[in-house]
Amino acid sequence: MDKNRFFRAIPKVDTLIEQCDSAGLFDRYGREITVDCIRERTEALREFIGKSEDETEIIRRTESLLPDIASAAEKLFSPNLKPVVNATGTVLHTNLGRALISRKHADHLMAMVSGYSNLEYDLEAGARGERYSHFEKLLCKITGAEAAMAVNNNAAAVMLTLSALCRGGEVPVSRGELVEIGGKFRVPDVMAQSGAVMVDLGTTNKTHLSDYEDAINENTVALLKVHTSNFRVVGFTESVSVAELVELGNKHGLPVIEDIGSGVLIDLSKYGLTYEPTVQESIRAGAAIVCFSGDKLLGGPQAGIIVGRRDYIKKIKKHPLTRAFRIDKFTAAALELTLQEYLSEENAIRNIPVLRMLTQPPMEIRERAEKLAAMLKNVNARVEVVDCESQVGGGSMPLERLRSSAVAIKPNGMTTASFEEALRRAKKPIICRVQEDRALMDMRTVQPGEAELIAAEVTEILGAK
Ligand SMILES: *Cc1c(COP(=O)(O)O)cnc(C)c1O
Repeated sequence: MDKNRFFRAIPKVDTLIEQCDSAGLFDRYGREITVDCIRERTEALREFIGKSEDETEIIRRTESLLPDIASAAEKLFSPNLKPVVNATGTVLHTNLGRALISRKHADHLMAMVSGYSNLEYDLEAGARGERYSHFEKLLCKITGAEAAMAVNNNAAAVMLTLSALCRGGEVPVSRGELVEIGGKFRVPDVMAQSGAVMVDLGTTNKTHLSDYEDAINENTVALLKVHTSNFRVVGFTESVSVAELVELGNKHGLPVIEDIGSGVLIDLSKYGLTYEPTVQESIRAGAAIVCFSGDKLLGGPQAGIIVGRRDYIKKIKKHPLTRAFRIDKFTAAALELTLQEYLSEENAIRNIPVLRMLTQPPMEIRERAEKLAAMLKNVNARVEVVDCESQVGGGSMPLERLRSSAVAIKPNGMTTASFEEALRRAKKPIICRVQEDRALMDMRTVQPGEAELIAAEVTEILGAK
């Protein structure tokens, strides 16, 4: 293949500049940005010609160089981080942003981020206030703890707690709880970073109270318990409860610190879900500090919440890492609004999107799937409503399978893989599951108003029968 012929066919930069100018790109995006895009796209084309043997594709790309430059410029000015439709059925989808904040709170949050606020200003005293004050009382009321604060995420909360309370001292922890959460959060590494000395005890499947007893000495500063959020050990197992640890801790004057992971504030087994220990139960059992995520089962903004005894929280607030991990006004506002919903369990289930999606009756999901299937009855594909299972996600309740319904789409005129890709490239991208060569739209995580959007996009991609 004579590649030089193709290299010569690439328009000169000067020519492209003229063409872009007359196509209005300079007016729209400015000269500098447009010229940058010209350079970048011609360079990409040159590289492609260099390595490709596909003549038709080379010609196609050369011919579409101008629109390619225009779309590169357009892309720079439009958000790359944008809303998507989650049709995977996984409620706490880490790749898709985990928990959703209710639209009910959108106006307040918008006002909070686009205007000034009393974030650190005490309006009654007319003096400096604390950013945690807006939700500390709520957290105490809901969890029964004496004091509370929040940092950027639970990884930071655990790291900060151990740094502030355990640096230089020994902290016994069960080998069955040395979890990796993902994103490089590994309990042994976090402990090492914090300066606490990990004393691992017991075995993978069994840890007895006597293991802790044997590990305690004059260098011990606290007992740590970590919830094994994202995995389960089944069969011949034994672990020590928070209450038992507290009793042991009390005998030796040691606080119990618990990383409970998901931050469940309602007993979800009432709604047919797997039982998960709640924060309230740990506090009631006497844990000195409990750490948990704001955007897992709690259903709020990304945050790491620390609740517990006043003296310890006071010490944590004074630690330099607190400043490094501090939450912003958006988080503080969203946390306050989410926690207010918990003042009534009924409100929480109804108004917190994560809880609403998790407790949705299968019949309702089925009805929504049937509605979407009806909207799609004329598209060029085989469309049917099928039973499926959705997951909780976010490293929570790993064994839970939620009964759900999906619309299964098997396109006629294209492969399922190309269809899935087209959905992903939509203006509001639609992320679905591919199973048995069909695209599945699990309706559990499809939000109000999005079914119409899916119908329009699918019709656009596949056309009518
Ligand atoms: C998820 C989780 C973390 C990390 O929480 P982030 O809020 O994602 O930082 C830490 N510990 C446990 C036990 C978890 O389940």
